[in-house]
Amino acid sequence: MKKPHQIESNLKISKPPDTSAGRHAIEGALKQVFSKAGVIRGSRGLLHLNQKGGVDCQSCAWPDPEHRTINEFCENGAKAFADEAMTETIGRDFFAKYAVSELRQRDDYWLNKQGRLAEPVIKKSGSDHYEPISWEDAFQLIASELNALDSPNEAIFYTSGRTSNEAAFLYQLFARQFGTNNLPDCSNMCHESTSVALSEAIGLGKASIVLEDLETTELIIVMGQNPGTNSPRMLSSLRRAKMNGAKIISINPLAEAGLVEFVDPNPQHYSNPLKYPVALLADKGIPMADIHLPVRIGGDMAVLKGLMKVILERESEQPSSILDHEFIRQKTSGFDEFINSLNKVAWAEIEFGSGLTKEQITAAAELIVASPTMVTCWAMGITQHRDAVATIEDIVNLHLLRGQIGKPRAGLCPVRGHSNVQGDRTMGIWEKMNPRFRENLETEFNFQTPKDDGFNTVHAIAAMRDGRAKVFFAMGGNFLTATPDTHVVAEGLSQCKLTVSVLTKLNHTALTSGRTSLILPCLGRSEIDRGAGGEQFVSTESTMLNVQMSKGIYEPVSEHLRSEPWIVCQLAKVTLGDRTTVDWDAMCADYDRIREAIPHIGLHHTSPDIRWSDGYCGIPGALIGLRQLRGRRKSATRHLPPGGVH
Ligand code: SF4
Repeated sequence: MKKPHQIESNLKISKPPDTSAGRHAIEGALKQVFSKAGVIRGSRGLLHLNQKGGVDCQSCAWPDPEHRTINEFCENGAKAFADEAMTETIGRDFFAKYAVSELRQRDDYWLNKQGRLAEPVIKKSGSDHYEPISWEDAFQLIASELNALDSPNEAIFYTSGRTSNEAAFLYQLFARQFGTNNLPDCSNMCHESTSVALSEAIGLGKASIVLEDLETTELIIVMGQNPGTNSPRMLSSLRRAKMNGAKIISINPLAEAGLVEFVDPNPQHYSNPLKYPVALLADKGIPMADIHLPVRIGGDMAVLKGLMKVILERESEQPSSILDHEFIRQKTSGFDEFINSLNKVAWAEIEFGSGLTKEQITAAAELIVASPTMVTCWAMGITQHRDAVATIEDIVNLHLLRGQIGKPRAGLCPVRGHSNVQGDRTMGIWEKMNPRFRENLETEFNFQTPKDDGFNTVHAIAAMRDGRAKVFFAMGGNFLTATPDTHVVAEGLSQCKLTVSVLTKLNHTALTSGRTSLILPCLGRSEIDRGAGGEQFVSTESTMLNVQMSKGIYEPVSEHLRSEPWIVCQLAKVTLGDRTTVDWDAMCADYDRIREAIPHIGLHHTSPDIRWSDGYCGIPGALIGLRQLRGRRKSATRHLPPGGVH
């Protein structure tokens, strides 16, 4: 029995790096791309990654600048691209060789390395091997299982954040035509608390800024986020902001290398090209965070209360010169109540809760007071906490006090992870439906939507565990490893009558099957999608609400691959038969039909401030949205949890 904390003899412990990216990022990216996709194929791919009319990055949702550089990608983006651009495939021979029970012993890294899924396969009840099945038979099987259910709510339709807008729109439409709102998605596990808090506080569950705001603001607060690992191109934007004179405050238990010093690996980001090789060879970049607050885990709300208390102290010392009173009066509600509650919070509670001293917090607050404009960015370090909603509402309060929203160079930026997690929610992938979306969907497609809210991810896991769900359908993703309580999820999945995974690569969710299980191989974003109406493109939505197009460049690695929209349309036709009111063939023959329907439904969750980029449709949404945004604010009056911050 190993003693706890017994360190493996070959484990090397070294000092954490204090610079990020630079030549290491270039080496890492090229090694991955050339080893997985080859030099020619890989290089061609990178030249199309995040380019206008090119392939939108499959990794995170960081927005693309209007003026793209040749290497408009980071190491993560290159890795995700390379992963999909592999030409090795696994099909009937692979599954004949490896039993499912054997494959389950392998880790996801090994499974991923085996290659792209090449054809639809089925694991029949009682069998330990997947074997080939035709698309037609696969849809017939799924349709018969779905239509045999006692209630449509015994089916679960899960969505990973990689699903395109077009596929997501069709998927939610199919699920609702089938009769359920059981549409859990990965957003339930990442920024759900953001959506709830921002919708309550400002009426828009998303970022309120554009890239230019971030790069030209005077102060950026980065809370509970590690851009160097999660959205590396954000570091280039932070660097640009620093070079424009901005200050950065990092609030994070750890001093992440990306917010200590950043060596920008993109040569086109250097106004003096001679500085580029020097920076790379010397591994010398620019210092990022001006202040790092090493907050106690879960102590962010305490920090925010502390920052606001100092701001109020400065206001009392210089009345009407710190707070934006005109803005508070005209655009917010609940201010007095909020101030009363803040005044009741003792500094002792704040210092205990945050793990910081008043002096540390005051230094940061002084930077805030000195900055005419401010942007705050956050991610899972904030959202995945019990008090996340209250903490995010306090981020909003901090901005409302000084009118730091709804104007240029100021606002809120929850940084999304998966490349289209936000777009999927906008398309209606949510277990709830807002009334306007429901009404428009019913009008547009002339049917009655299911009225009861569906299962979110946690409810879906419980429903499978308790036998209340019998069919689990996953559009991408790795549900088993992405969700909490892996054992409970595995048990739930194995209890299902049927599990279906639409994937590009094999993973453990597809190996943790129901009595019968199907794997349906789909096209990757980098592969050409030829529908009945010719070559198609899809779209995704960035963290900052840009909708960008994505068009494949490679021939599919297998003739059996199908696009996500095609898979949904065929599944819907076979399952719904003549009870459907949707022309699925038209939708998957020409995706413009899908894009024509989307605006009629009115986007879920948002005011109409979606900005289309890549030049194929422009709505001057920013001003409209932000004006509405300004008009809708109210502040939350939450106190620190009873007994101070845990
Ligand atoms: S920052 Fe995100 S979107 Fe951009 S290339 Fe990297 S992983 Fe892709």
